[in-house]
Amino acid sequence: MKQSLLLLFSIVLLVFACTRKIQQQPEDQPTSYDTVTTRIEPEVRKPRNVILMIGDGMGLGQITAGMYASGNKLQIERFPIVGLHKSHAFDQLITDSAAGATAFACGKKTYNGAIGVTPDTLACTTLLELAEEKGYATGLVATSTIVHATPASFIAHQKQRKMYEAIAADFLRTDIDFFIGGGKKYFDRRESDDRNLYLELQQKGYLVSDYFRQELYEAPADPQRNYAYFTSDADPLPVNQGRDYLPLATQMAMDHLEERPGKGFFLMVEGSQIDWGGHANNESYIISEMQEFDRVLGMVLDFAEKEGNTLVVTTADHETGGFSIVPPARMDSLATAFTTDYHTATMIPVFAYGPGAEAFSGIYENTAIFYKIRAAMHW
Ligand SMILES: [Zn+2]
Repeated sequence: MKQSLLLLFSIVLLVFACTRKIQQQPEDQPTSYDTVTTRIEPEVRKPRNVILMIGDGMGLGQITAGMYASGNKLQIERFPIVGLHKSHAFDQLITDSAAGATAFACGKKTYNGAIGVTPDTLACTTLLELAEEKGYATGLVATSTIVHATPASFIAHQKQRKMYEAIAADFLRTDIDFFIGGGKKYFDRRESDDRNLYLELQQKGYLVSDYFRQELYEAPADPQRNYAYFTSDADPLPVNQGRDYLPLATQMAMDHLEERPGKGFFLMVEGSQIDWGGHANNESYIISEMQEFDRVLGMVLDFAEKEGNTLVVTTADHETGGFSIVPPARMDSLATAFTTDYHTATMIPVFAYGPGAEAFSGIYENTAIFYKIRAAMHW
């Protein structure tokens, strides 16, 4: 009897002790491990602005050649985060610029030639449209025509990339704050209808000018108004034939968009002709376009560093030319070769800087760039 009483007492004591212990640490309190984890994890700030830099056809060969041709140093080396994307299209391993840009713009794999539409030709919402919807200022800058595949995929919805006049008309459906590129004739001398979109932009309140009227530096933007400038009638020249507007256009875009009312801005800048150098299998064409694009990357990073809350993402839609550096190349005297005059399926580097940049490390599909930007911006 005495023994069983002692046993009972011990059990009661044990239960009491256990209960007390449980009371001291209710289940909804974090464990000390969680607390420590939470404390050391850096808080990811939401960026105010996002700038997407696309070097069309800019694979590692193009970047490397540009780097060695520039004394083994490029601005692109300032990006702290590097990842790789898989560029393939919906039904083709080798993408074109339209499907490639639509993947970034909409987060959808689509067919080659598709401009902001899914494989069943339905319009998909683009980053630029999301930005507008959420109250951000928006801009596009390109060294091709502004209706060319890459810029077009962010603002237009057309079944085929060659529908330049229809793409131009889609600009009027948006309230894009700023754009600079070639292709004036698709706006003011149209074959498919009698519309003059140059005048329609002015009637909508845009400050519009062009290469024929005045140089870009003579046509400053007014922060009170939307802005459009056409750098050529059709395709702009290569940089080694005198084109020089990309640095100024990009600086103007950042300055203008920063002053526009809104929560921040979305800007896409395309170095369009790195790709054209690849199609032409022309080493000096590639290198000169790469060097100009890299100079602009330096300006964009300077802006982002100063502004302090801008996410910058730099990538390409695909590589062009199967461009490589081959023996007997030396750093000061490159020898290069091409495996094709079209695009290749090699994985493409992605560089990121600013709040949210960490999400761009790793290997992922090209469509993930849309989702990563969306997540960073809380769109
Ligand atoms: Zn391309």
